[in-house]
Amino acid sequence: MTDIAQHDPRIVVVGAGPSGCFIAGALRRSLPRARILVVDQLPCPFGLVRYGVAADHQSTKNITRQFDRIFTRERVEFAGNVSVTRTARPGAVSLDQLRASADAVVLATGLAADKPLGVPGDRLAGVLGSGALTGLLNSHPESRLVAESLAELGDHVAIVGIGNVAIDIIRFLAKSDADFAGSDINDDALRAYSAARVQSIDVCSRSPIEAVKCDAQMVRELAQISGLRVSLHGDTGVDGATIGDRTQAARVAAIRDLAASADADDARIELRLHFGVEPVRVEGAERVERLVTAERDGAERTIAVESVISAIGFAAEEDCIAGTIGEIRRSDPASGRIEPGLYRVGWLRRGPRGTIPENRADAMCVADEIIADLTTGALETKTHELPEELLPADVADASISYDDWLAIDRHERETAPDDRTRAKVRSIDRMLAVARERAHA
Ligand SMILES: Cc1cc2nc3c(=O)[nH]c(=O)nc-3n(C[C@H](O)[C@H](O)[C@H](O)COP(=O)(O)OP(=O)(O)OC[C@H]3O[C@@H](n4cnc5c(N)ncnc54)[C@H](O)[C@@H]3O)c2cc1C
Repeated sequence: MTDIAQHDPRIVVVGAGPSGCFIAGALRRSLPRARILVVDQLPCPFGLVRYGVAADHQSTKNITRQFDRIFTRERVEFAGNVSVTRTARPGAVSLDQLRASADAVVLATGLAADKPLGVPGDRLAGVLGSGALTGLLNSHPESRLVAESLAELGDHVAIVGIGNVAIDIIRFLAKSDADFAGSDINDDALRAYSAARVQSIDVCSRSPIEAVKCDAQMVRELAQISGLRVSLHGDTGVDGATIGDRTQAARVAAIRDLAASADADDARIELRLHFGVEPVRVEGAERVERLVTAERDGAERTIAVESVISAIGFAAEEDCIAGTIGEIRRSDPASGRIEPGLYRVGWLRRGPRGTIPENRADAMCVADEIIADLTTGALETKTHELPEELLPADVADASISYDDWLAIDRHERETAPDDRTRAKVRSIDRMLAVARERAHA
């Protein structure tokens, strides 16, 4: 058996979100001689750290500094604007092509599509996915929403789900414009929303109060927002003293404190948290008019709302490379190994659960599986027989290097208004143009 540090495989990681960055870093540490390339369909790295994590949580986004070192100091290469597709087509690289030019390919493409509510009426105008909404607030170039749609939320909004993403959305809806100082929020979206702010938010959770999944800290943050009046409804009767699990007990305490502490007299927004209720259907003629929910005993209740925001998680895009490779979906989710030479990591492997640090632990496990395959010879290093270039010439020519991305990053910081950390470039063409202009400056 050879010293693993002497192996020099060529590894391509598809997806530059946290999982892709963490696994590239983990592989580099074990394989100092490997050539490691991280590609992303967007010209910019960092996935949902840039396009999901709330704009007013800049400290969470600071994880990008750690990722930055992987590309600037640890000789991991980046190629943005590189779409990996199921079948070969001009301007994109297929998974088969990548597998033919690298020893190993790691899929870290996440899960990009909002899971539909799955009840009648869930396609009515006014039903929004949380991913599309948070993407818009983060200036994702391909968010399915435009800023103007926030002017049409109406006075009364329902959110389905009480996870951390739902709480990010409540904060957005409830905070004043001034509360976004220091963020990188999409100002067009914020302006559109500010012109027509909502008056009430009904949040519906299938779980009883003791079983919801949001973090206590996130709930406590809501208590800092002025003008919010909070009430609790439904399955809230659990006796806090009987909850054995400390995390759960802290969460229940935080929710009860929130309801007890929130402003009563000068409330701008009513926040009603409903526990133990399921959405049954969304009703309306042209667009949403009502959300019908059912309680545990089956009793139905109708909430008059003009919009419904679903915050129930994510799914693979239909044409996503992972979704179309049957073996990937069928392969054992407990392992990152699809077969020696093809691996998956992060949300693509575990489903849309878990925080950024959880992807780090996940990346370490999958990196260990790759190292084990190299060590046993299950993954053969064919590096010297492989074509010289990892990407087809037309794809490589149109790609964005890490230096190009740093030029876009500088531009976004330099053009930011005083009370923003950056003004994100929203269009992919504009990002490419900024990178080219800077390269020739
Ligand atoms: C709205 C929201 C808020 C969140 N807030 C927090 C938070 O505050 N704190 C926290 O710890 N966690 C948060 N999370 C969770 C965290 O973002 C995820 O755990 C993490 O981003 C998952 O990482 P990933 O790399 O697996 O996927 P992603 O971050 O989705 O990265 C996938 C990458 O793959 C690229 N890609 C996809 N398909 C292709 C393709 N065919 N070809 C090339 N590239 C492709 C994408 O462009 C993307 O860059 C949040 C999640 C969401 C949705």
